[in-house]
Amino acid sequence: MSSQFDASVAALRSAIEQGESFVIIPHVNPDGDAIGSAIAVYIALTKKGKRVELIGADEVPRNLRFLPRWEEFRSAREMFPDDAPTENMPKEIEHFDLAIIVDLSAPRRLAHARHLIPLAKAVAVVDHHELGDDVADGILVVDSSYAATALLLYHIWEAIGFEFDSDIAQCLLTGIATDTGGFKFQNTDARALRAAADLVQRGGNLSLIHEMVWDRKPESALKLLGVALNNLRIAANGKVAYSTLSLQEYESVGATDEDSEGIVNEVGKVDSCVISALFREHLPNRIRVSVRSRGDIDVAEVCRKFEGGGHKNAAGCTFSSSLESAIAALMPSLEAAAL
Ligand code: AMP
Ligand code: MN
Ligand code: MN
Repeated sequence: MSSQFDASVAALRSAIEQGESFVIIPHVNPDGDAIGSAIAVYIALTKKGKRVELIGADEVPRNLRFLPRWEEFRSAREMFPDDAPTENMPKEIEHFDLAIIVDLSAPRRLAHARHLIPLAKAVAVVDHHELGDDVADGILVVDSSYAATALLLYHIWEAIGFEFDSDIAQCLLTGIATDTGGFKFQNTDARALRAAADLVQRGGNLSLIHEMVWDRKPESALKLLGVALNNLRIAANGKVAYSTLSLQEYESVGATDEDSEGIVNEVGKVDSCVISALFREHLPNRIRVSVRSRGDIDVAEVCRKFEGGGHKNAAGCTFSSSLESAIAALMPSLEAAAL
């Protein structure tokens, strides 16, 4: 660990010790790492007797509603319905000593929850993504060598003055498990496995995580997978596999964007492909793209060219256009990266 990193951890510890009121915020369209990390920090701060709010732009995804205390999340979309600062804020969110944003560093990816930032005296970022051009101004506890924000938190847990309990272990284990694809992606290193073993010992339940996160889905999600597999397209001599989901297709099977979780990984199973992508029209003319790669191909770099980001092997971006225009815009870069 660099001394810069250690200094940030020490700054976070002192901000936690000195602060009385906190808000914890995960990224928009949150995943198991964002939610698990946020709840873990929430529980730890609550146990220290602090006043803490847990606020995200979006609701907790259904498949994460087995996590302890998930009901305590409040929705920033409801708090800021006009996506602008509002005057008559409930008293408990008028002021915070520290806002802690987890699993992202870019205020842009807070969506509606970014309006909470000016209400906080200081900001801390705990994240494992490469820093982009939009970085929150504050204490940066960021190291992209960690497979998950939850894994980074696990490593700094005692240094920032937190104590473990079994609920916290379950939340951190969920973050590590989800960002490593159930301990099978390339980012599954010895450090992640050691942390997982310890978190299981502290009360984490890995088989429950597998069942709830991946192995139980609503009928609409399975039907949506069927649609996406049926729409499979191949490009770059088999090196790129991609698929699409139109708004009409979502509606035809009664699915929401949440049901598309994991589909890009199914598309990526085409044996010849090294890059896979899923283009989803989750709102009219709003296209979310999930991109995955094998080996050394850096799709985060490609997505950053389109104001997106992520990790080398798992990234994304969004387009305000039709599905076909988004495909036309992104595919040349994906094909070039695949060659
Ligand atoms: P997803 O495909 O939604 O699972 O996202 C894969 C990775 O890409 C995650 O690390 C996300 O944080 C990141 N990502 C997805 N969409 C965007 C975006 N529009 N901007 C920046 N990063 C993104
Ligand atoms: Mn995430
Ligand atoms: Mn993460």
